[in-house]
Amino acid sequence: MIHEILPVGLLQCNCSILGDEKTREAIVIDPGDDIPQIQAVLQRHGLKVKSIIITHAHIDHIAGAQKLKRLTGAPIFYNEKDLPLVKMMDVQASWLRMPTPEVAPPDAFLHEGQTVSAGDIHGKVLYTPGHTQGSVCLYIPESSLLIAGDTLFAGSVGRTDLPGGDTRQLIHSIQDQIMTLPDDTKVVPGHGPNTTVGEEREQNPFLQAQ
Ligand SMILES: [Zn+2]
Repeated sequence: MIHEILPVGLLQCNCSILGDEKTREAIVIDPGDDIPQIQAVLQRHGLKVKSIIITHAHIDHIAGAQKLKRLTGAPIFYNEKDLPLVKMMDVQASWLRMPTPEVAPPDAFLHEGQTVSAGDIHGKVLYTPGHTQGSVCLYIPESSLLIAGDTLFAGSVGRTDLPGGDTRQLIHSIQDQIMTLPDDTKVVPGHGPNTTVGEEREQNPFLQAQ
């Protein structure tokens, strides 16, 4: 599997591009900004985008989605519980003092247990509310890979002080949905360096002593 990670935009959101080497079909996760750079990577690998996945509707993860959809024709998917965040995109833009991006309801909602495929890549949707009410992760078992959005970071967890945030729920989501995965699962967080489930199980201070 082709996997490229591009930190995009002001807040350097990790956009993941997953590509099937045989069919050249791809899934793009969290195209928050810098669509020309994302397109260049797609072109370099000769990839055709099949699905655009948004882990949660914070502006730094969703802002470029409509633009990428227009360029590729690929549908956008996210969880319906983040629709309130999409409706307040102007407020989110004011937090970052940036212009309000064009956003829209998804082409279909993502829900727990659903599979998103591109060629031989099969990503399982894990519903992990807490950072936002509609937060999801994408787990690709064959590649031992988890795209974690802002739910889990190397040595930290997502902030819960923004609208829809809930600390208890976030920790429960991580314990029930992520800490139950194999230790060697590579975790690509929404920002910052990669980690593994095993490392976070051992060292993440937010996951110790309940
Ligand atoms: Zn976020």
